[in-house]
Amino acid sequence: MGEAAQAKLDGQRKAPAAQDIYDVIIIGSGPAGYTAAIYAARANLRTLVLQGEETGGQLMITSEVENYPGFAEGVLGPDLMDTFEAQAKRFGATLLPRNVTKVDFSAQPFTLWTDEESYRAQAVIVATGASAKWLGLPNEQRLQKRGVSACATCDGFFFRGKEVAVVGGGDTAMEEALFLTRYATQVHLLHRRDTFRASKIMQERVRNNPKITIHYNTAVEDVLGEDSVTGLAILDVVTGERQTLPVQGLFVAIGHQPNTDIFKGILDMDAIGYLRTYKHTMTNVPGVFAAGDVDDARYRQAVTAAGEGCRAAIDAERWLEARGEVDPAVVSDPRDYGELHAPTSEIGVGA
Ligand SMILES: Cc1cc2nc3c(=O)[nH]c(=O)nc-3n(C[C@H](O)[C@H](O)[C@H](O)COP(=O)(O)OP(=O)(O)OC[C@H]3O[C@@H](n4cnc5c(N)ncnc54)[C@H](O)[C@@H]3O)c2cc1C
Repeated sequence: MGEAAQAKLDGQRKAPAAQDIYDVIIIGSGPAGYTAAIYAARANLRTLVLQGEETGGQLMITSEVENYPGFAEGVLGPDLMDTFEAQAKRFGATLLPRNVTKVDFSAQPFTLWTDEESYRAQAVIVATGASAKWLGLPNEQRLQKRGVSACATCDGFFFRGKEVAVVGGGDTAMEEALFLTRYATQVHLLHRRDTFRASKIMQERVRNNPKITIHYNTAVEDVLGEDSVTGLAILDVVTGERQTLPVQGLFVAIGHQPNTDIFKGILDMDAIGYLRTYKHTMTNVPGVFAAGDVDDARYRQAVTAAGEGCRAAIDAERWLEARGEVDPAVVSDPRDYGELHAPTSEIGVGA
């Protein structure tokens, strides 16, 4: 590396001032945000991560993660995220545990506000994740990690040989119930109405599976157990009859809510609020990229979120380089950005 490039690199790693303009600001500190930070900082981009108040993201509220590659014996969610954070810091990313409350993506550099400060950047990666919707039962949060879950792919394995319940009436609930039949002896599918919203084909598969018992018109009033789930207090909403369903696991499958409120009217999103991307990871606003659960209603896994964080950082790097924002001497991979070089007007800037 030449002297000029080294000097630029040293400058990039200086402690930040709020008025500085970053190459990239990453919003969110789950697997997507931290992976984006690792790639962006390692590509010598001046990188700020506005981590949010829940630093580390969703995996901070789980215990064992057994399906993240590289950990043959599994790893605790918070330990995994501490490692992600340390790796992002190692390459010089600046991390601040602040929530972004407002953004202006109408002009470059983009401006982002937290309660304390405003920050500016040439490119932004949105990695704000999605939150599972919960039922709001009195003991639901207390028994998370102890039998209450919102992710069968993540936690189904722990219910081998046990009896579990799934709550919901859409395709996700059907998928979760079917998936759980690989492990559980019996899966109870509870729905408070007398018909499912799910597609016909998914309903058929559920009805044809001998391990699944469907309970229509059934509301869950609470989840029972001291140290782990021992049952559910359920109510037949037609007859008013109450009983206990003895299960060791409760999977809540009533949907997820992407954390995208602050982007409404600015970034394109679907009816639920998942961000739409057009060219690779780029949103409708050139220079603003999305990664992880915030644009992925389908996979919702740590490894896919991390993979998207990598893609978004490479996309941001190439986009900046193509616009001449980054000194080619310090860009790790200065290949042409190709299609993403489209002029702003072709892609449509958010209101
Ligand atoms: C209980 C549980 C167990 C799970 N177990 C597994 C598992 O075993 N294996 C697996 O692969 N996946 C698992 N998952 C799924 C996995 O956690 C997610 O797919 C993954 O965390 C998504 O990563 P992400 O970076 O997209 O978003 P998240 O992890 O949701 O992170 C989003 C980040 O954005 C921040 N943020 C949100 N809004 C703002 C804002 N306005 N300003 C600044 N920051 C903001 C949050 O603070 C957070 O840091 C589990 C999920 C849960 C809930």
